[in-house]
Amino acid sequence: MTTPTFSQALTSSRATVYGVILNDHDSLSRMGASLSDAPYKGAPKAPVLYIKPANTFNSDQAVVNLPKAATALEIGATIGIVIGATAARLNLDSAAAAIAGYVIVADLSLPHSSYYRPAIREKCFDGACVISDQMIAAEAVAKPGSLEIATLINDREVERRKLSDLVRDIPGLLRDVSEFMTLRRGDVLLVGVKWQAAQASAGDQVTLHVAGLGQVSFSIGAAVTSESPSVAATKKRKRTFGRIFFNGAIHEVEPVVDETPNTPARIRLADGKVLLHSEAQWLPPIEPCSIFALGLNYADHARELAFKAPEQPLVFLKGPTALTGHLGRSHRPADATYMHYECELAVVIGKHARNVSREDAYHYVAGYTVANDYAIRDYLENYYRPNLRVKNRDACTPLGPWLVEADAVADPMNLVLTTSVNGKETQRGNTADMVFDIPALIVYLSSIMTLSPGDIILTGTPEGLADVVAGDCVVTTIEDIGSLTNTIVSDEDYFHPTVVA
Ligand code: CA
Repeated sequence: MTTPTFSQALTSSRATVYGVILNDHDSLSRMGASLSDAPYKGAPKAPVLYIKPANTFNSDQAVVNLPKAATALEIGATIGIVIGATAARLNLDSAAAAIAGYVIVADLSLPHSSYYRPAIREKCFDGACVISDQMIAAEAVAKPGSLEIATLINDREVERRKLSDLVRDIPGLLRDVSEFMTLRRGDVLLVGVKWQAAQASAGDQVTLHVAGLGQVSFSIGAAVTSESPSVAATKKRKRTFGRIFFNGAIHEVEPVVDETPNTPARIRLADGKVLLHSEAQWLPPIEPCSIFALGLNYADHARELAFKAPEQPLVFLKGPTALTGHLGRSHRPADATYMHYECELAVVIGKHARNVSREDAYHYVAGYTVANDYAIRDYLENYYRPNLRVKNRDACTPLGPWLVEADAVADPMNLVLTTSVNGKETQRGNTADMVFDIPALIVYLSSIMTLSPGDIILTGTPEGLADVVAGDCVVTTIEDIGSLTNTIVSDEDYFHPTVVA
């Protein structure tokens, strides 16, 4: 048996790669005055993060094919910090202990000038994250802050960067990122790519070399069009299930359909055991692969925020630590002045999908669930908006309770969505009012990248947002899919819960 490459191991462990832009003084100074122009109006305050999803993971000696119509790729030469132990709320002293080691990463993107919209099309095409095959252990790297990365195209050095130029150095970056999202063992945090990095075209051979870490090489291939084979509808039995953690193990559960009115909701385990909802620790109904979320996908909600509905889907990615299950707790930071819920239909992908046609799109859907995509508007900055600090906070995206298989939902584009806060309805809409409907989203995403089973698309929220505070009970409900309950807690209760005897 051959040892898997680092990127193969990343894929099988479902680890996440997070990237950051504008983290070097050279890029900021070259952007110069444009940082003060609209829509940015100033240099970023928090780290400007994004996610490289699993379809981008690639190994040494890969051939990266240009996306359709592209003529060149930007070679974002960077270093990946490999996380060795769960990293939450680190400080500068504890940061080093969270690092297992380092890898060399080519974070590839299509050349793009604006950091205003999330660059899914530009950064998430298949194979766009080439990683060296072996991690170098942290103990073997004496001064990670002094590493230098040389970019060679066809054996000629075209760029050299030094980590000593970072705005947030390695401990500083780990501190500022782990402040609002937990990094898991095996996750990789990239230290940043240069603005307008070197470009390479079809036929070019690219090598990144780092003294002390080794090198990674790949070549650029011409654009190829690959399509998922057209799939016939498969007959499946109708099924609804959730997942809970109970008695030390994960169980799939089904709802108990009760004829008696006003009985508390119950669930049934595979062995027949029946529990109240409140007796279980709920998990999201599926273990996610990539999590996509849509901004401004209901025209009424866009108007409510005084935006024009976008002409292309406004898509961004979330990491798995953002999710929490039914009856979970989401925390409102002490300094937040506006935290709102967003009730959303979540579409779960069931098959690999690439360049799917509108007619075939529904065949790639495994089922549906309910999401509540909380946002903290105080943290919205005009860089890759909405930034992960707004939208990827630990446990601030409840999901569940049920995955309802696709065949059981007659028309997913005609479902009523409602949110109630402490029993009072505050939001109401219908999935019929989406700007980009479910087939359009699958066509769009699969034209950029390969979708995988377990990918989840949060399809946006209608109007009716309201501020929620610690103690509020928020229930997001979608007709025929389920009711998802969540409680808002304070920083104090979240990080120092009182133990109830
Ligand atoms: Ca949303």
